Amino acid sequence: MRGGRHIAAVTDATFDLAVGECLALVGESGCGKSVLASALLGLLPGNAQTTGSALLAARGTAGAVDLLAADERTLARTVRGRRIGLVPQSPAAHLTPVRTVRSQLVEALRELTGERGSALGKAAEAAAERAAYPADHLDRYPHELSGGLAQRAATALALIGDAPLLLADEPTTGLDRELVDRTADELRRHTDDGRALLMITHDLAAAERIADRVAVMYAGRIVELSPARSFFGGEGPRHPYARGLLDALPERGFTPIPGMPPELGDLPDGCAFAARCPRATDLCATSPALTPGPGPAVACHHAEERVDA
Ligand code: SF4
Repeated sequence: MRGGRHIAAVTDATFDLAVGECLALVGESGCGKSVLASALLGLLPGNAQTTGSALLAARGTAGAVDLLAADERTLARTVRGRRIGLVPQSPAAHLTPVRTVRSQLVEALRELTGERGSALGKAAEAAAERAAYPADHLDRYPHELSGGLAQRAATALALIGDAPLLLADEPTTGLDRELVDRTADELRRHTDDGRALLMITHDLAAAERIADRVAVMYAGRIVELSPARSFFGGEGPRHPYARGLLDALPERGFTPIPGMPPELGDLPDGCAFAARCPRATDLCATSPALTPGPGPAVACHHAEERVDA
């Protein structure tokens, strides 16, 4: 940042993701979710620095790769699109503005599936159908698309390579409820077919529909990692912020979380949620650590007590 300041956009993010699993990463805007996804794809701005590792397991003839250590050539030629598909957060900006949707689907099919010749046209229509993109809009340019159509076009492109890992960054933005459900179900099918899905979303209803586990981020840290069943079910989340997110839903009380998230460049020494937390005590002046485990993990000194099945 200006003046040589550093900002930790994501800190201590530790999680795994198994084949056949969907992990929903939720939290308010600016909490670090998309930065995390960009880091995994090597798409951070040039002035960003990463430490740690992000291991993509070996599969078939492809060896394991540390995404944070891999060079740009490896990421571009063997990872993006082929081993990790991306549904981008801003689909309209992601699409090539001077090419129709059909032309972009055909190019992706040619590159990622080896399809050639007359079969490409049918394959492009099938790819569009998979993301509920209407066939009669295939010859439109990105500037002619609504937000929802651009979202569906980007989803269709992301699914083409059938990558073992899909990063979907707000994949249901701009869609009406029926299309949200359809898109979420298609992403779940993709996952059930021997792949993994990291879904970054504000849409807790979509997360509840398809996620196996939920990771909640606040101010650049994962503060809770829980099985979706207990997170959305009777027991509910353990972290006060995660409980606040659910309580803010119209169907669950519509109670907003007071205050605003802190600036990442001006975080308090202890728990970053303390100024908004109804459970805060003096103990919260020290930062709570997240302890990963097979059950729910939570970074809070006074988390809800519960035992997960
Ligand atoms: S550590 Fe303290 S301030 Fe932070 S969420 Fe838990 S109770 Fe609230």
